Amino acid sequence: MKKICVYPGTFDPVTNGHIDIVQRACELFDEVIVTVAVNPSKDPMFTVEERLNLLKESLKDFSSVKIDSFNGLIVEHAHSLNAAAIIRGLRAVSDFEFEFQMALMNRKLADDITTVFLMPNEKYTYLNSTIIRGLARFKADVSEFVPEAVQKALQEKVKNRK
Ligand code: ADP
Repeated sequence: MKKICVYPGTFDPVTNGHIDIVQRACELFDEVIVTVAVNPSKDPMFTVEERLNLLKESLKDFSSVKIDSFNGLIVEHAHSLNAAAIIRGLRAVSDFEFEFQMALMNRKLADDITTVFLMPNEKYTYLNSTIIRGLARFKADVSEFVPEAVQKALQEKVKNRK
């Protein structure tokens, strides 16, 4: 049987840190489904459509990766995909408390789905999408941290802003 996992996140936008986690997940699972979690309480810079397109472009070389979006409980999405695991990235202690609570709640909701934490290469431990959006607003060079397509999309977004 195929081993499937789902990697949910906001991906606003996808960074090299996310890609590092996807790469590691690909080594462990036959299929990795990267899911843009639609969160109505957040005010993202990129629309769901834009985030999906940036993920597709950035992950096109990974043959076992699929990309989708979902609005609802991630464990329900995992069930519908026959996924056995939820992937989350752990960068630092600061991620731990929230991730720990969420993993335990998801286990309570669905005991058959295991949360798997993966650590990125050390060079990505300080990287997150919020910092990238902040840098881009000040027109800083983010080429080291995001794929080329994301870099261009960020430049477009901030071009007409003061
Ligand atoms: P963020 O704004 O923190 O990037 P996401 O919701 O897009 O938030 O992140 C989705 C998942 O990817 C989370 O498990 C998060 O911890 C993980 N993640 C985000 N950035 C990195 C990174 N640089 N290295 C490893 N994991 C990361």
